[in-house]
Amino acid sequence: MNAQARLSSLRRRLALEEVPAILVMGVSNMRYVTGFENVFDEGINAACLVTPEIARFYTDRRYSEAAERAAEGTPWAVRVQRESLYIELCDELTNDSIGEIALEPEVPYGRFKFISEQFGGSVKVVGHWVEELRQVKESHEIERIAAAASLADRAFDHILGHIKPGMTERDVALELEFFMRRNGSDGMPFPPIVASGPNSAKPHATVTDRVIATGDALKMDFGARVHGYCSDMTRTVFIGEASERQREVYAAVLAANEAGLEAVRAGVVGAEVHEAARSALAERGLAELFTHGLGHGVGLDVHELPTLNPRSDDSIRAGSVVTVEPGVYEPGVAGVRIEDLVVVEEHGYRLLSHAPKTLIEI
Ligand code: ZN
Ligand code: ZN
Repeated sequence: MNAQARLSSLRRRLALEEVPAILVMGVSNMRYVTGFENVFDEGINAACLVTPEIARFYTDRRYSEAAERAAEGTPWAVRVQRESLYIELCDELTNDSIGEIALEPEVPYGRFKFISEQFGGSVKVVGHWVEELRQVKESHEIERIAAAASLADRAFDHILGHIKPGMTERDVALELEFFMRRNGSDGMPFPPIVASGPNSAKPHATVTDRVIATGDALKMDFGARVHGYCSDMTRTVFIGEASERQREVYAAVLAANEAGLEAVRAGVVGAEVHEAARSALAERGLAELFTHGLGHGVGLDVHELPTLNPRSDDSIRAGSVVTVEPGVYEPGVAGVRIEDLVVVEEHGYRLLSHAPKTLIEI
């Protein structure tokens, strides 16, 4: 990781937009721009100030020791609050004669208002500058995402030997989580989705106590987190022998998954990849039952740029990591989704999910 290169990229954006300073406060964005390891958690009280000359990390005493250690040998200076982080930060802005500051679009309104009132200069909310930088991964980031994907693959292999009719969705979700955490996942990037029978027809079902029975489709959407980086995959299996309709739908979703993958390459627009998968379902009369976007970027967050959906004009870049996850959902009946994680390459893609996609009956 080259902290200086990330800072330089953000500074180029400041220069391009003619803004003298940005305050980065999103946890994943702060983690990215600083490159600090073992400092951040979801509850951290911190902010990063970046100007053409300054790279300052503000936090409170709970995080100061870890931050000071992480900042050694980097361009970052650590400031530990005495009483109020934002009051002291705004005072420093005034002392540094900074007259205008950019904030990220996700800044909570209360904080926006507080900073606007406290800081004498002008405050403006800008675009997703850091998220845009995060889209193209460095090789060590891809290695971490690949490790998280591989751990999820192992969890899928493990769960296949574990699922039996009579278990609940909750049993399966817990076992998936337990396996991944025991084998090195730092928490979960999102709670695993385990949806059986009619529940599988809800694209983002929450886990219930429903008992899994013969004849069910069982959809499992889960991921691991390794050294801060996420993975995301979905597989759908059948309990007992799959019905003719279930086979038909599974084959269609698999064809859409493959068509989507084939469309992935550097320079393609997000909407085009979505359309490649959608039209594979349309050929089989199932496009109306595909009700969400085809995919999204994955990195420090499980949902990040770029987006692959019918409205996406994101140009997909080499080095991005994206999901390809078509699904068909028949309300009240069943749903099938197959989701893979891939690295975008100049002329195609490299698969990071290696769990089997052949139809599996348990
Ligand atoms: Zn997923
Ligand atoms: Zn996903």
